[in-house]
Amino acid sequence: MAHERLYLFDTTLRDGAQTNGVDFTLNDKLVIARMLADLGIDYVEGGYPGANLTDTELFADERNLATTFTAFGMTRRPGRSTSNDPGLAALLDAKADAICFVAKSWDYHVRVALETSPEENLASIRDSVRAARAKGREVLLDCEHFFDGYKADPRFALACAKAAYDEGARWVVLCDTNGGALPHEVERIVGEVVKVIPGDHVGIHAHNDTEQAVANSLAAVRAGARQIQGTLNGLGERCGNANLVSIIPTLKLKAEFADRFEIGVSDAQLAKLAHASHTLDEMLNRAPDRHAPYVGESAFATKAGIHASAIMKEPATYEHVPPERVGNRRKLLVSDQAGKSNVLAELDRIGLKVDKDDPRIARLLEVVKEREAIGYAYEAADASFELLARRVLGKVPNYFDVEKFDVNVEQRENAVGKRVTVSLAVVKVKVGGETLISAAEGNGPVNALDLALRKDLGKYQSYISALELTDYRVRILNGGTEAVTRVLIESTDELGERWTTVGVSPNIIDASFQALMDSIVYKLVRSGAPA
Ligand SMILES: [Zn+2]
Repeated sequence: MAHERLYLFDTTLRDGAQTNGVDFTLNDKLVIARMLADLGIDYVEGGYPGANLTDTELFADERNLATTFTAFGMTRRPGRSTSNDPGLAALLDAKADAICFVAKSWDYHVRVALETSPEENLASIRDSVRAARAKGREVLLDCEHFFDGYKADPRFALACAKAAYDEGARWVVLCDTNGGALPHEVERIVGEVVKVIPGDHVGIHAHNDTEQAVANSLAAVRAGARQIQGTLNGLGERCGNANLVSIIPTLKLKAEFADRFEIGVSDAQLAKLAHASHTLDEMLNRAPDRHAPYVGESAFATKAGIHASAIMKEPATYEHVPPERVGNRRKLLVSDQAGKSNVLAELDRIGLKVDKDDPRIARLLEVVKEREAIGYAYEAADASFELLARRVLGKVPNYFDVEKFDVNVEQRENAVGKRVTVSLAVVKVKVGGETLISAAEGNGPVNALDLALRKDLGKYQSYISALELTDYRVRILNGGTEAVTRVLIESTDELGERWTTVGVSPNIIDASFQALMDSIVYKLVRSGAPA
């Protein structure tokens, strides 16, 4: 039986960026956009060009992503022509594959917020869609407050949607902007819309204010909508947007949807979902939600006892889907098997060939467990994991030794009588038979240590000269008896490769030192530097 195609549209970088405390850099946006494309998401909405510098820069260059990269913005302002609206011009100039316009579809908002007439609102939709089509862009229209608007005046709400469709918009997206709609209402109203606009041109954009954004999205699909908009981990203002991390596996693994529909996410991509979800949390410096459906650490955790022994015999007895399908793992206190296969999968991913019965695998698993228990997080620090694995497997040369380091922080008055804080680091390194001493000042103790450490590595200096730190994140963990500090450092090199390393210690300088050392050694290993 032919499966009908359902499309996924991610707005983590636009609607998700509205979340309190979330502030994506240009680089964050590019990393996340690539990750979403790798997951098989059809559309990635990058932001709102013209609204802020980051988004304007994001759309200033071709990004060549394997997804329909989409720019968001408003339809032309009331009373202006399309050629005389700077906001619209910025949007039409954006280097994007598609443009997603937002427009009012609730008469109340048109009168009160926009202070214009219903006719002018419709004309603005028609003109904007036409202008974007003339620029060769695929066009989407987000109908803001559609469900509230439909309840108040179904004819006007439908007229707004139909105006965009008639002008050639590929998608008309019905937005539950206030997030208050309930699944049975969404199913009924979408059912009415698809009598006027074919369902394979209708999308759903749900917010989570009654914790039903996922249910509302699925209800819309049942009623005929064929595009779902959402965000990774349900990121979004207030209570968030529909969570794609819950929607994707439901579409792939639940028969009602899986038997009828196909999505752009393959089985192999689905198995990367947990990793993508956790990576976003790490970038936001948040602890992943242990109880998140499908991908949370506890989603497939079972306490030892009768459940565990039943799961060992027949996993389906206590699991609604196999955890490995979404890249998660079964957690049983009585068995190391799950952990071992996870380590094997990681080794395979980074390209280290090891026989699955090699006794060193058990040793590596033991070391990983010990270190995770004291705060190391290898899921987010791929380079540190690789080094650890290579060390246990006996494959990392001892390039250099740091014999000692010393970091000083001094606060004093400078020449013009202003109080300044200055950091100075001195590092003594032994490379081959040579002892090298370097000193550097930095804007903080970790920066000074980093600069001093990388200043002179003798014969290895040429390998690390283009190494650059691009991110530094600190989290205080309250595990065990005392608080410890976890530092994650992201680095990049001349080839544009990125890697993340981790350090853990009660002392922030020491934790940073570990992560810095891992970063340098990782670079030397990758560059094939001679021992
Ligand atoms: Zn929204």
